[in-house]
Amino acid sequence: MDGTNTAEIRMRWLGLVLEALKELDIPVRQTNYYFEGEDIYWSGRDQDVTLGILPPADVDTPPRALVQTSSYLAKKGLGASCVDLNIKTYKAAEPKYHDYWNAGRRDEWADAEQCRKRMETLGIDAAAWADRFLERKAPNIAFYVRRSNMLVTRTVMELIRAKDPARRLIVYGPSAAIEAERDLFPDAVCDYVVTGEAETSLTDLLWALRGNADINTVRGVRWTGKDGHKRDIPREPLMDLSGFPAPDYRELKPQDYGDVLEIRASRGCKYRCAFCAEQPVEGPARYRPAREVFEEMAEAYRVHNTRAFRFTDLIANGNPKQLEELADLLIAARLPVRFEMTFAPTDDMTAELYRKLKAAGCKAIHFGVESLSDRVLEAMNKTYNARVAQRNLADAHDAGVETHVNLIVGFPGEKQEDIYLTMRRLKQSERHIDFVDTISQCQVLPKTKLERQPGR
Ligand code: SF4
Repeated sequence: MDGTNTAEIRMRWLGLVLEALKELDIPVRQTNYYFEGEDIYWSGRDQDVTLGILPPADVDTPPRALVQTSSYLAKKGLGASCVDLNIKTYKAAEPKYHDYWNAGRRDEWADAEQCRKRMETLGIDAAAWADRFLERKAPNIAFYVRRSNMLVTRTVMELIRAKDPARRLIVYGPSAAIEAERDLFPDAVCDYVVTGEAETSLTDLLWALRGNADINTVRGVRWTGKDGHKRDIPREPLMDLSGFPAPDYRELKPQDYGDVLEIRASRGCKYRCAFCAEQPVEGPARYRPAREVFEEMAEAYRVHNTRAFRFTDLIANGNPKQLEELADLLIAARLPVRFEMTFAPTDDMTAELYRKLKAAGCKAIHFGVESLSDRVLEAMNKTYNARVAQRNLADAHDAGVETHVNLIVGFPGEKQEDIYLTMRRLKQSERHIDFVDTISQCQVLPKTKLERQPGR
């Protein structure tokens, strides 16, 4: 024995081969691989869970909520496969109905009568959809739910439950975290509501369902035990976003969607705007290392020839240092990509950083400006004033970035003079604004400060 083929070396070689088999998606029935703290045992995608998404949702990019979650679960040794019936329905629909997927109209599906009519118009056969999920062998089916698709999802879950009561049904995503929306998924149709993040709470739940942990200790999941006792141990947000595996696009291939890939550099938001329904769901701001975001983009370019990315962070400029590092990496690598982001106007965004972003490939920025009256901005709990917002628009536009603006009208306490002031300042900034993406009446949404303090 010369020390080149020891038990430890053999175990590492075995690990390499197992990793390769996992990459190739070839199930392994048995192995004696074992390393303390590591679990790369892989016995196929159907082993633990089928992740599903139903319409309406984005159609130009594979659903990140599925591809990111499945790759994370695989990293943790859990087998997950993905079923996207949203894209299939969109492609089968006559073009005149494609407006049902328009982002501005998606929440109309949250109205029971509208949802029923749309399903009927599109010829959706919910029973056939239930069968599509039941064809998969996984003992658990987890649906990604948000306001727009929660009613469609519930309909399909009821049918799955009726056809195969043994199949465990799970929901995760924004509607699972919002009390008023998760009430749509009672015990009769849903076994587990994942209120925490998928990477932590869904992972722990699936491990417990495999029998590897005590389910009573799983945090971030609401469920009712056989004794009728409701379990709901809260879970803190995942603070360290480093080390996320690249999304797994082997099942949901980018070429079957549009020419864009969704990407995220952060979770949550450091601001607390009074009308915001998203920050209370996502929690405090957390950022991925810039290098990992860059590597994900570089890999997508290398493997799928992806050249367009949409950052879906609540705001992508919460950490200007991270943003600048990402821009520097993209510039240095000369990656021929273009991307769009959503920003809050802030004092720490400089003209130079906007120029760097343009050089890195930033094509468009969507600014949540909301109003150009300082009084209204203060009432909204915004941390910038109209001067800062106008300066951000000018700097971005002068750098050559397309500027998009969102506006809200009728915030509590807003007066006609505030509306006129906003109109005057829009006129001043006219040449720095390319599009107004949305202008909407103020709405009081669940979980917002406005809902808690309606007198504001
Ligand atoms: S900046 Fe945007 S995401 Fe953050 S709290 Fe305000 S509205 Fe919500």
